[in-house]
Amino acid sequence: MNIIFLGPPGSGKGTQAKIVSERLGFPQISTGDMLRAAVREQTPMGLKAKSMMDAGQLVSDAVVIGIVRERLSRSDCQKGFILDGFPRTLPQAHALRSALSEMNRQIDAVISLEVDEESVVRRIAGRRTCRDCGKMYHVEYDPPAVVDLCDVCGGDLFLRDDDKEETVRRRLQVYSEQTAPLVDYYTKAGLVCTVDGMQDISEVSDQILKVLGGN
Ligand code: ADP
Ligand code: ADP
Ligand code: ZN
Repeated sequence: MNIIFLGPPGSGKGTQAKIVSERLGFPQISTGDMLRAAVREQTPMGLKAKSMMDAGQLVSDAVVIGIVRERLSRSDCQKGFILDGFPRTLPQAHALRSALSEMNRQIDAVISLEVDEESVVRRIAGRRTCRDCGKMYHVEYDPPAVVDLCDVCGGDLFLRDDDKEETVRRRLQVYSEQTAPLVDYYTKAGLVCTVDGMQDISEVSDQILKVLGGN
């Protein structure tokens, strides 16, 4: 099954994509994670992407489409995949469609996570990420057992550079201008399942698994 997670920054895409990926056994493909890895490794692509990410702007379509195309061609995506944070623009959605059709494949479901803006800002302000393994926490809603330390690997938890308040406002604006139109695009294609993202993490995943099961 080929699934897209759509929703504003902080709506829970990464959290839910990870849970669903573990349950259904399809890889989670997060363009944000892949770009952050490139920044950490200081690859030429990472160096170019960093300034856009820090400013809360999108990385160019060409770069992101390139990494997703390459990732989808790997063997672990054969049975299905979960896209988290891609596509984010109409050109990306079009490129995805043609890449998949070259492989005789298509998107089966688009999970649209709905969360109000005030909650999204609160979620992002409290989001902490493990420097070593990338696992995500929330200081209030999903805290680690020991403050600022990762439960899984003991790494330090940090606030992402682009999770500072001014940048978050910019990212929300970018979302409503460039990404929100995708909800319409995929609704017209009959693929959207709307999920109330305001519930607890486990309630949201139950609902997602239920709608996917019914597909
Ligand atoms: P969030 O989880 O808060 O929605 P992501 O981790 O998905 O954020 O993305 C962080 C940043 O990485 C974005 O603000 C953008 O700069 C870049 N990025 C991630 N995915 C894409 C994409 N599909 N197209 C362009 N830029 C992207
Ligand atoms: P996205 O990938 O859409 O940017 P995340 O999955 O990173 O969103 O979630 C943003 C923050 O909100 C994280 O700190 C996460 O722990 C927390 N979070 C995710 N889902 C929920 C939820 N249903 N209720 C409360 N907090 C949540
Ligand atoms: Zn860790």
